[in-house]
Amino acid sequence: MFALGTGVHPDGVRILVVEDEHRLAELLRDGLNREGFAVDLAHDGLEGLWMATEQPYDVIVLDVMLPGLHGYGVCARLREAGNWTPLLMLTAKDGEYDEAEALDTGADDYLSKPFSYVVLLARLRALVRRGARERPAVLAVGDLRVDPAGLRCSRGDVRIPLTPKEFAILHCLARRAGEVVPKSELLARAWDFAFDGDSNVVEVYISALRRKIDRPFGRTTLTTVRGAGYRLEA
Ligand code: CA
Repeated sequence: MFALGTGVHPDGVRILVVEDEHRLAELLRDGLNREGFAVDLAHDGLEGLWMATEQPYDVIVLDVMLPGLHGYGVCARLREAGNWTPLLMLTAKDGEYDEAEALDTGADDYLSKPFSYVVLLARLRALVRRGARERPAVLAVGDLRVDPAGLRCSRGDVRIPLTPKEFAILHCLARRAGEVVPKSELLARAWDFAFDGDSNVVEVYISALRRKIDRPFGRTTLTTVRGAGYRLEA
């Protein structure tokens, strides 16, 4: 008997753990096994991607810093392929990546290392209960399409490659198309909430976006509203 008290019966629940730190991976596997979960381990990003593609899992635990292919790459490729297995990402608090980025690439939840095993277990149960989510809607602003699930952007038939930060900013603007979005909101959305660097960094990304989504198409859909923020229009 399992005293879970969460309404989740672990029988048949299958978890993939993608973690290159062998000791941590094995500790997780042993702990989750004791809860009655079946656990497979992968030790690099490509192996993890392959396993997640070949086998159905109820939830995936994915480390960000992995050899072969990092966690964001694994997550983005799974989502691009239409795989919506609930996914919890393990991020490093002081790492070069942040939590916003984990969610932007299609993770359902994240935990910063070092994490509490009890918290991890609770989060995994919640994800299993929730099941695979629906694919989020593709946003259209005129003929500009922003696909938050696949991290894809296109104008007409032309695919536009964006960096994760550019995508996060464009996504924020597209969700509020026609409205003026303050610079502070873009900063909060695309960077850590504790970001205290130069807010001019937003302008740099806005310029980069214009060079990609507007200029090659002879448009001016992304405008600066002096003293107020930025606006994306059809
Ligand atoms: Ca790692």
